[in-house]
Amino acid sequence: MSLPIVDAVPSGAPRGRLHRYSLRVSVLEQCQLDCRYCRPGSTTSATEKARWLRADEHARLAPLLLQRGVAKVRFTGGEPTLRTDLVDVVAAWRDAAVAADIALPLALTTNGLRLPPLLPSLRAAGLTSVTIHLDTLRKDRIVALMGDGADVDKALDATRAAVDVGFAVKWNAVVQKGRNDDELADMLAVAHDLGVEVRFIELMNTGSAQGYVKETFISGRDILAKLAATATVQPVARRQPSDPAALFRAGDVVFGVIASDTEPFCGDCDRLRLSADGRVRGCLYQPGGLPLGAALRAGADDDGVLALLDSALDDKRSHHPLAPQPRVPFSMADVGG
Ligand code: SAM
Repeated sequence: MSLPIVDAVPSGAPRGRLHRYSLRVSVLEQCQLDCRYCRPGSTTSATEKARWLRADEHARLAPLLLQRGVAKVRFTGGEPTLRTDLVDVVAAWRDAAVAADIALPLALTTNGLRLPPLLPSLRAAGLTSVTIHLDTLRKDRIVALMGDGADVDKALDATRAAVDVGFAVKWNAVVQKGRNDDELADMLAVAHDLGVEVRFIELMNTGSAQGYVKETFISGRDILAKLAATATVQPVARRQPSDPAALFRAGDVVFGVIASDTEPFCGDCDRLRLSADGRVRGCLYQPGGLPLGAALRAGADDDGVLALLDSALDDKRSHHPLAPQPRVPFSMADVGG
């Protein structure tokens, strides 16, 4: 069985129809873990707290981004729960959505370690869904894969707690050949017991851990073949064309496969990214980004910020590259994965 192929838009093709965006908001670059494919070789040093957009700056930017079509927000990093004011940042976006009379899904991607005590206040602040990242169920593997402090039980407890609080919950597992690709069926079974959907993620070559990625890369197609060897797997329609996950069903379990490098979904990509210091970009692979945060701090008014934002949106609409080899190596933790 093969993954449904999504046609990618050739470089330079116009994408004028794009007018609703899914925004990934990185709230910091730091993480207490050390996933082998993420931190090693990071080309950006950890930023100072002072560079992170404060909650009041999120409150200034959120209405402008909503005005320009942001229809979904995911808070990520780094590890977002390390921000002591994460709840205030989430609430800033919720308040902007309420003021604009928009139903705005607010999601969080986290390793879950610090999540449980925050769950009630995140819910009260308007968060609607949570994705927990856990690459193995094996206690004898987790530290080697995700670094000191990683803990299977804590991640699974956080997943259960998030479900109990009423969040829609997903589970991200980055599949690595020879490291965790013998656990896929177990992960499906555990996801089923937890009542969450697992997303099996193909390793992306962001250029910062090339040796490791080369050694452990397994394509989405091969991930699916491994699962199909253990169960009858059938394709399920994507819920949204812009959903990066191809969905499948094994019995009554639905799961996703995200194959960003081998089956790029650039043609349907509606993502924008806001870095921790407020740079906006239309593509993960685009270096730099337009500095909305710096413009705010330099005293720009709303029109000034909107002018910068519009040029980022024009760029995404008019010229979107095929997922290329990264010209500038980066870590997902720096850009906001
Ligand atoms: N700390 C949070 C976490 O662990 O999920 C949020 C940030 S993390 C960068 C977000 C997601 O990016 C995780 O699911 C992580 O595994 C994924 N990620 C990081 N580097 C990746 C890579 N090279 N290829 C595929 N996924 C990657």
